[in-house]
This record gives sequence, C-alpha cells and structure tokens, in this order.
Amino acid sequence: MVSIHEDSITTDRIETFCKNEVEVYTLRTDKIHPVVSGNKWFKLKFYFQQALSQNAKTIVTFGGAYSNHIVATAYACKLKGLRSIGIIRGEEPKNYSHTLTDAMNYGMQLHFISRENYKGKVIPTELVLPENYFIPEGGYGPLGAAGMATLNYDKTKFTTVCCSIGSGTMMAGLTNSKNKSSEILGISILKNNYELNGDVYRLLTDKNEPVNIIHDYHFGGYAKYNDGLIRFMNSFYESTGIPTDFVYSAKLFFAINDLINKEYFKPGSKILIIHCGGLQGNFSLPKGTLIF
Ligand SMILES: *Cc1c(COP(=O)(O)O)cnc(C)c1O
Repeated sequence: MVSIHEDSITTDRIETFCKNEVEVYTLRTDKIHPVVSGNKWFKLKFYFQQALSQNAKTIVTFGGAYSNHIVATAYACKLKGLRSIGIIRGEEPKNYSHTLTDAMNYGMQLHFISRENYKGKVIPTELVLPENYFIPEGGYGPLGAAGMATLNYDKTKFTTVCCSIGSGTMMAGLTNSKNKSSEILGISILKNNYELNGDVYRLLTDKNEPVNIIHDYHFGGYAKYNDGLIRFMNSFYESTGIPTDFVYSAKLFFAINDLINKEYFKPGSKILIIHCGGLQGNFSLPKGTLIF
C-alpha cells in the first residue's frame, strides 16, 4: 500500500493563466496520494486521531456512488488498520461504480440506504455500536475544518486563495488558517445551493470573516458536465501537464480562468488555486473522453 505524503505537495505557476497583471499558482495537494488525494486526507486526519484515541475499531461514513470521500476513507482505514463501513445514498445498483468497487476492494463494507433515509440521516440501527466511529458526509464538521487548516503553503505570498466547494469544510478550514491580508474565494460545484454560505459560516472560528462563494460555475450541478468543460480539461492538460477531475477541480480552474479574463481580480493579485485531486472520478467518463 502507498502511504500518504503531505510533503510531496508543490506550488506550480500556471503561465497560461497569468495576464491582466494577475499571477496565478496552483497548490498540488492532488500529489499526496493517488487515492486519498487532496483535501480528503486533511479533512479526515483529526477524525481518525479521535477514533483511535476512543479505541474505535470501525469508521462509518456517508457518501454517493462517486464520492471521493468514500474511497479516500476506505483506503485510509486500510492504511491505519481500521475497518470501514460506507453508508451509500440510493438503492444497491446492479453494476457498482468504479468508486464503489475500489472502496470495496479496500475492505469497505457497503450499506445502501434509500435517498429519503439518506437525506433524513437515518442510520441503520445495527450500525450504532460503541466500537463504530461516525464521520459526517464529506468530513463536514469542526474536526474536518481543523484538519484542513493544517494544510501548509506560503501564507504571505498570495492575495486570494481559491478552492472548489462540495460540503464547504475545506473553505472553512482555509479561512480559519489564512493570513489576515488574504481572502478565500470559493467556487461551488453544486447547483444553486445557497445553504453552502451558512454551512461554511458555521465552521468559522472568526465569525467576522466574509464567506465569498461564486455559484455560477456548476455546469448543471454535481457531476454534470458539457463538451466545453471536457475541451477545457484537455487543453488545460496540454498547456500545463496538470490533470483535473470533471466534478471539482476542472470547474474550479475553468472558473478562475474565466474570472481573470473578465478582470474580476485587481491588478497585482497573486492567486493560489488549491488543486484537490479527485482524479479517480474521471473513471466514470466514457473511455477516450480525456487525453490523460
Ligand atoms: C471533496 C472535494 C472537494 C470539496 O471539498 P469540501 O470540503 O467538501 O467542500 C473539492 N475538490 C475535490 C477534488 C474533492 O474531492
């Protein structure tokens, strides 16, 4: 098994994005591990610490059939010698997604529950055991944000740090650990989910910090895409050598590039885009869609 290497993160300049007196870099957290990539490890680490200190034997968590959080948790549990159970949204499918197959191969036991029960956060009673430690969907919560806040980068160099948003945990953690003079900008990949602003706000340690989320780059919603996004992913890879995933990072890079072209950022801005990996999600695209 491959272990997790936080020190393999690099800060790379994106030459093709630098224009209108704006400089752009990306923090390659996708490099820490092929499966437990990007923010997923950071959000999990304090939950794992607490689970181990409570002598839990099994981690139970929640997610959909394509969830990066599910597969990352499965792998991290295997790495740490913990059992894992995934409560999966929706009826059991005939054919498992690549994500679920991998999670199962890493030893995760899958429990499928109806979308209704999932939404109502109904936990199967047989799973409520003292030895089971529960982690919320996406690692959302103060511990997830605190883990995220341990992400290391040059805090004094950047005026704006940009991230994509699913649960909002990463954005909260980045806000809680940022340099005073810099700002955090979130790009939502969910369609018109304005509750995210409150979700991020609830995890802030300083409630005076603004929560700045742009909701215009979801491409139709979670895991939706169009030809334009795929073309962008391929040409971005061609010009930079950086692979992106169609659920999160591609929408984030597309958004920041578009905002730079629209002169959204002040001249002199130094932007850091957090690349959080999630590349396993691309396995659900038809073969040949991407050039990487
Ligand atoms: C999970 C994930 C996100 C979103 O993180 P949240 O903390 O849930 O907002 C962004 N990018 C990638 C690649 C992810 O896997």
